[in-house]
Amino acid sequence: MTQMKYCPACQSELTTEVSVEGPLRLSCSSVACQYVFWNNPTPVVAAIIEIKGQVMLVHHVDWPEKMLGLVSGFLEAKEHPDEAIRREIKEETDLEVEALSFIGHYAFVEQNQLILAYEAKCSGSVALNEELDRFKLLPPDKLKPWAFGTGPAVSDWLARR
Ligand SMILES: [Zn+2]
Repeated sequence: MTQMKYCPACQSELTTEVSVEGPLRLSCSSVACQYVFWNNPTPVVAAIIEIKGQVMLVHHVDWPEKMLGLVSGFLEAKEHPDEAIRREIKEETDLEVEALSFIGHYAFVEQNQLILAYEAKCSGSVALNEELDRFKLLPPDKLKPWAFGTGPAVSDWLARR
């Protein structure tokens, strides 16, 4: 993420000199302006999609060639995370969610995100949208969880089966 330089409220320069409880934060250099850039983590929903006993991994068009991951996305305003993941699955794969269960929450510190991870048992046939360019179906015992992002959720899911 590129560092913000100017106050979105008044366009003065941001500084890190003012500390408002806890770590140093970017805040507005103008005394008249109260703007503080809190930089709170962004929630992201992600799903381990299970279809006919296999797990679906997808490749996002923006990802490195060999990387595969879970279907994931951001919440719309006022949307409940359970609804957000159902919508993302439908939009990105065209699959129908038959049963949804929450796995857990995971801090993805490097991206300043909070991942809300689900298991989604799905049916239907796959039609990827323009965000994804390929997918892979794997038996769960062939899944190798990765160390970052949604990987720990995959790890927990496998451990609980
Ligand atoms: Zn300002």
